[in-house]
Amino acid sequence: MSAREKLKDKKRIVVKVGTSSLIHKKTGNINLFRLEKLVRSLTDLHNSGKDVILVSSGAIGVGFKALGLPKRPQSLPMKQACSAVGQGQLMMIYQKLFSEYNQGSAQILITKETMLNDERRYNAKNTFDELLKLGVIPIVNENDTVSTEEIEFGDNDTLSAVVTSVVGGDLLILLTDIDGLYTDDPHKNPQAKLISEVRVIDEKIEGMAKGAVTAVGTGGMSTKIAAANIVTDAGADMVIVNSDDLFNINRVVSGEDIGTLFLAHKRENFDFKQYLTERPYFRKG
Ligand code: GLU
Repeated sequence: MSAREKLKDKKRIVVKVGTSSLIHKKTGNINLFRLEKLVRSLTDLHNSGKDVILVSSGAIGVGFKALGLPKRPQSLPMKQACSAVGQGQLMMIYQKLFSEYNQGSAQILITKETMLNDERRYNAKNTFDELLKLGVIPIVNENDTVSTEEIEFGDNDTLSAVVTSVVGGDLLILLTDIDGLYTDDPHKNPQAKLISEVRVIDEKIEGMAKGAVTAVGTGGMSTKIAAANIVTDAGADMVIVNSDDLFNINRVVSGEDIGTLFLAHKRENFDFKQYLTERPYFRKG
């Protein structure tokens, strides 16, 4: 059975969607068609028997628009205020859309501190397990209002990788505004080729990621490779795929060869705390 075919058997799936995938590029306003499609896609995944967790950015992006600010704020207190407004709005829309399909959903806000503290992480894991047992789809974001620069994850690629390892997920799907990892930046080099499968994340792969950035998100490709390091070492697969069509989520899980698949290679004594405290982006040595 090919690695792609094996994705059909994944049981606990984390899907991460970034700000750029949730808003209209031109106006920065929320893209309701996208959100609807996302919710339908995740509900159907859940209906097919999978545990599903959504990691959604967009709180700051939705919040500053709601407050009528001219552009995304730079200062930390303003970002936090925008996030407080936007997170509520986002959850309101998500819960309305999920309830149209009679699908339960819940909000979980996480901080890096919670994840680094064994007892609190254990409690968070229990909450996830309980919600999944109840058939609910948890919707996760960083708790921006209490996470200051020194202690924050800062990007939801890393956060989604941490969530995947904490809940024992076996697949992380990262949705973004590019088809996957290319051999070079496809915006600059027309010869750049999409890589379908990555078995080992070596310096060559890390180098390929460095130039590529996404239009609106905070992460770009480097944080996605960093997430792949955590997830694959934890023993789960990860796929980067284009969010232009959110049904790509279902295509990935039905084994279609789209996006870039990073294959799991479980590491003995895996401890994601090392990845967060020692070298945030790339593997040591
Ligand atoms: N937590 C931030 C938000 O919801 C997003 C972080 C990210 O873009 O990865 O706006």
